[in-house]
Amino acid sequence: MAQVRPQDVTVSTRLTDVLGRRMGSLLIEKLNLATVGDLLRHYPRRYVQRGELTNLDELVPGEDVTVMAEIAGVTGRRMRRRSGHILEVVVTDGRGRLSLTFFNQPWRERYLQVGRRGLFAGRVDTYRGKRQLAHPDFVLLGDDADADDEVVEAFAGELMAIYPATAQVATWTIARCVRRVLDGLGELPDPLPEELRRRRGLLSLRDAFVAVHRPRTWDDVRAARERFRFEEAFVLQVELARRRSATRALPAKPRVARPDGLLAAFDRQLPFELTDGQRAVGETIAADLARDHPMQRLLQGEVGSGKTICALRAMLTVVDAGGQAALLAPTEVLAQQHHRSITALLGPLAERGMLGGAEHGTRVALLTGGQSTAARRKTLLDIASGEAGIVVGTHALLEEKVTFADLGLVVIDEQHRFGVEQRAALVAKGREAPPHVLVMTATPIPRTVAMTVFGDLEVSSLTELPKGRAPIRTVVVPVSKPAWLARVWERVREEVAQGRQAYVVCPRIGDDEDDGTEQPQGRASVLELLRGAGSTNGQPAGRASSGRPEPVSLLELATILSEGPLAGLTVEVLHGRQPPETKDAVMRRFAAGEIDVLVATTVIEVGVDVPNASVMVIMDADWFGVSQLHQLRGRIGRGKHPGLCLLVTDAADGSPARARLDAVASTTDGFELSRLDLEQRREGDVLGAAQSGRRSSLRMLSVIRDERVIADARAEAAALVAEDPELVRHPALRQVVDALGSDVRADYLEKT
Ligand code: ADP
Ligand code: MG
Repeated sequence: MAQVRPQDVTVSTRLTDVLGRRMGSLLIEKLNLATVGDLLRHYPRRYVQRGELTNLDELVPGEDVTVMAEIAGVTGRRMRRRSGHILEVVVTDGRGRLSLTFFNQPWRERYLQVGRRGLFAGRVDTYRGKRQLAHPDFVLLGDDADADDEVVEAFAGELMAIYPATAQVATWTIARCVRRVLDGLGELPDPLPEELRRRRGLLSLRDAFVAVHRPRTWDDVRAARERFRFEEAFVLQVELARRRSATRALPAKPRVARPDGLLAAFDRQLPFELTDGQRAVGETIAADLARDHPMQRLLQGEVGSGKTICALRAMLTVVDAGGQAALLAPTEVLAQQHHRSITALLGPLAERGMLGGAEHGTRVALLTGGQSTAARRKTLLDIASGEAGIVVGTHALLEEKVTFADLGLVVIDEQHRFGVEQRAALVAKGREAPPHVLVMTATPIPRTVAMTVFGDLEVSSLTELPKGRAPIRTVVVPVSKPAWLARVWERVREEVAQGRQAYVVCPRIGDDEDDGTEQPQGRASVLELLRGAGSTNGQPAGRASSGRPEPVSLLELATILSEGPLAGLTVEVLHGRQPPETKDAVMRRFAAGEIDVLVATTVIEVGVDVPNASVMVIMDADWFGVSQLHQLRGRIGRGKHPGLCLLVTDAADGSPARARLDAVASTTDGFELSRLDLEQRREGDVLGAAQSGRRSSLRMLSVIRDERVIADARAEAAALVAEDPELVRHPALRQVVDALGSDVRADYLEKT
């Protein structure tokens, strides 16, 4: 059947040529495995000790599973109403039971005998309250004649690999295929340099394949996993190191602030002291900007830590040096707010050419998609002439007709809303040389995530909040307690009575076009996942098919509140489907204190900054992800007034949704919460659960658990790329790095 001689088998050999057309096509169709390499990288999900039984209590209806169990009972009978035969086999793990049903296969009774052990695979369902597998695929194990020899052979030792399988391709079928492929495999070019492998005590590629698929001991499994984890981290980090070194090789115009210029004047008029962190980040950025290669820096930090000031000071540095700076915001609301607050912070410094404007001042322009043609034309002109030193905008900034006189710095706020391509589009607007780039994240991200997802950037972090911030208290309010909910609205009234303001956040708008929560423009990217707005259709993560009632609608709630519990207060709505002028006007009036209660969607989630707001009520809080709630909550407690965040939910006590809310209520440490968020997103480790379906270069590596591995791999990769940037001495490595493609981030996305 095989058309290829064994010794000619390489990782790129097609499976149809080794396993035959029928099996090869099956693997492509059902598991998307086309080559020998694909199959060998289809790692076992887990292993079972031969003879060790699966805990049947852990089976979840709807999942494809493979269980090792013992036959406890067999009954065959003719069906009464329909003609035909039904064979019911009950298997046990010693405690729990699971029934297997076979239709019209009476002969199976001959060898499905009580006391025999086997692997049984199928989809778990429930029938009359009992869990069962209908028509499972199975193999019996043991030394006697009925045992499937080839299956027994497929496993080298006591450990049996359990693969991500499907209903059509059982795990032992995969094991058989792997065995045949491994038998024919010669030496393989190894992407890990031999010297590095030896130094770190890592298995060669071929040995690792054998050890992972046909382990004799748990040590084999560990050694193989260690090698693959390192390899995945290393290949990724080599790619990232190459990108960093490519950027370092680019020319850029150094930008240094004048000693008595705009930045100095701005610092003098700042109404507060910079935090130590802000000062340190400022120095780092100033040093970056003074170099003749483009800065590529990520600024991350706790919600409310004051990243905007850092960005503004960087922008002023560039303007001081005669250049322009662009600030790219993910939403219209945020762009408008940045424009407003930067203009306000600069005061007369933003009024160059106007009466009373400072003479070394500049102008701040706003460019968004919703502007009138006339306003837009004027803005475009100011940008092109260099009249506007600072340009704030949305995606509209990326359009081709936007040209800068001398773009020296691009600041990207809340990076997760932007794709790599968009960053590239803006960078391309640098006239003579690429501009410096500063990227800011909305929520803190774990160090390892920063090293992988944003690994082509240098990272700075702001961990402290400005002094004098009052703490935020968070309370979970179950809707099952009407008195508590009534108290929520009382608390809002009390805050308003003291001159404070409130947000009420709803997961959906509630008009005809409603599609769940809102998504700002731009490509969904990794941090979207981090924050729980995972899927692109706008359904909050994990709730898409839960079948629960729709969450409370914003428009309805606003009406109810202003006629009932909040009657007499100024209640207004803000959501993504309002025209830009309306959004801007509402935000302005809220910032000016003319609105008491803002009933809003997640449009206020990122960056909105109204220090007088002290209370936030989040309706159906369990619809939001952990990091998203943290980010929302960051809208309050921004001034000197203590913040109160009320998470209203109908999630039952003890449910996972409720546990997430309790976690958010228990800490305001964003790093801890983002970690928790990521951990919860990892796939369950259910025996033989349905394969994930999508391809990723990260299979064994966990960006959460494997911090040490990632850090080591990063150091090794940097050293290797410094020595051999084009990887000429490492052709096998070069091949896999190139194959990684240009979008490393997509891989990470798939893994989470
Ligand atoms: P984030 O890091 O979440 O983007 P912002 O940059 O919006 O936070 O800052 C939050 C608030 O803190 C703003 O009102 C800002 O003016 C204020 N702020 C920033 N730095 C300081 C400081 N050093 N002292 C006091 N207030 C500050
Ligand atoms: Mg911000």
